[in-house]
Amino acid sequence: MLRITVYGGAGQIGGNQVLVEDGSVRWFFDFGIPFHQWSKFYEEYLQPRRTYGLLDFLALGLVPPVQGIYRPDLEQHPLVARDFPGRPTVEVEGVLLTHAHLDHSGYISLLRRDIPVYTTPTTAFMAKAIQDTGQSDIEREVVYFTPLRQNPEGLLEGDRESHALQRPFRFALGPLPAGDALAFWHKLPLAKKPLEVAPPQAAQGIGGRPLRCWPVDHSIPGACAWAVETSAGWVAFTGDLRWHGAAAHYTRRFIEDLASLRPRVLLCEGTRATPGPHLVHTEEDVAQRALEHLRSVRGGLVFADFGPRNIERLLIFWRIAREVGRSLVILPQDAYLLEALHTLDASLPLPDPGRGVRLYADPKVAPRTWERELRRRYASALVSPEEVHQEQEAFILCFSLLDVNDLPTLRPRPGSVYLYSSHEAFDEAGYLDFERLLNWLGHFQMRPVGVPRRDPATGRWAIPPGEEGLHASGHAPGPHLIEMVRQARPRTLLLVHAEPGAYAYFTEHLSGTGIEVRMPVPGETLEFA
Ligand SMILES: [Zn+2]
Ligand SMILES: [Zn+2]
Repeated sequence: MLRITVYGGAGQIGGNQVLVEDGSVRWFFDFGIPFHQWSKFYEEYLQPRRTYGLLDFLALGLVPPVQGIYRPDLEQHPLVARDFPGRPTVEVEGVLLTHAHLDHSGYISLLRRDIPVYTTPTTAFMAKAIQDTGQSDIEREVVYFTPLRQNPEGLLEGDRESHALQRPFRFALGPLPAGDALAFWHKLPLAKKPLEVAPPQAAQGIGGRPLRCWPVDHSIPGACAWAVETSAGWVAFTGDLRWHGAAAHYTRRFIEDLASLRPRVLLCEGTRATPGPHLVHTEEDVAQRALEHLRSVRGGLVFADFGPRNIERLLIFWRIAREVGRSLVILPQDAYLLEALHTLDASLPLPDPGRGVRLYADPKVAPRTWERELRRRYASALVSPEEVHQEQEAFILCFSLLDVNDLPTLRPRPGSVYLYSSHEAFDEAGYLDFERLLNWLGHFQMRPVGVPRRDPATGRWAIPPGEEGLHASGHAPGPHLIEMVRQARPRTLLLVHAEPGAYAYFTEHLSGTGIEVRMPVPGETLEFA
């Protein structure tokens, strides 16, 4: 009997935590942070407490209410056992991770060290670079973690004595990392802290079940889809995907292969399974539009704001920068990420004035170790805010709202442009951010392009006419998803990473196909014969 329990990603976008059980063999598809649920309670300055281990995560329904999968150090606090006794014990063979977005990967941080993570080398390297350059945080320990210890009051605290432990990864697609790549994989950014490494192995089946992995097109490199052959037939999982980016051919190939497997169950994302309209801007459209806008910039600075970790968009702006005779200035965390991925794919650029990529180096009292070392490695590519100010027409800066507080030192000249190439706001807080961004731009007389503005008459936010098309979604629009499912012909389509309305959309557009469409209820186990 095949059993599937969707703990996270049921009726909501993101936070996938899908338990699959085939007899005694169990695994998770993704183990992400359910941001929808998380942000009901938390924000940047209001976070789960590390001192109580798992308590807050269980109390607020952020993780499956089971035991046997979590780090023993996080189970230590007595309130965890007192308030959540008798949780069913689950033993899993691994997590099949689709990509490095935190709504898919983040809560791997909380899992036992002996649960292997199956993913692509690119996703693993992205996850490590994100962790290496981010703040250390209990929710950001996807690749390695340092176990907490209990103090005499029962609270959990960091332990300076203990080593960081790397999780075992099973790599699908591509050769196992060697040379520089392996050196990166086994090195901690804090020079002094020892890391107990876990040498990567190749993914060859899970719990004796045949396993397939395909690269797919998404807004982050390394994204993949999975399928496992179970006693009831193939169970496949799309992760997040689209086919309007540079890797579109990968997604098409996945769909063809999937059709040949005649899947019993297809777990499919439904982010954009909405009535429409379905505008499909391709990444190439974005490149064309951005180039047109930037050709019209006379003097002054250009900022390009695209989502973090969107390497495809970064490469597009690198290309555009060369076409308009500017250098691309990237932030240290982007350079670190590129350097990590460069060990797997030598075609990616590194900071190098000769190739038009510079590394932004704002004066810092105490840069972190990784950043100090990065600056040393790319000393010839460094560019300071003062140099940017002096030669404004020489650069495109990959900045976002979080970097605009450098504007008083950059002092943009009139005619400078802030080009927004990312998604629209999801909630009120997002619109407040746009308002704040527009205040900055107005104050420094930078021209916004592609930034949503509020219509004073109606109060509605929209991108002004003539500035649309500077962003392409990471997700396939509804009609593409329908086309994919019709071609793959699973017996059951199980919607994840989708709002409840996606159910009606799929049922309507798949009527007459004989495909059973199901919208999971969080934590409810579905059985398939
Ligand atoms: Zn997602
Ligand atoms: Zn994603």
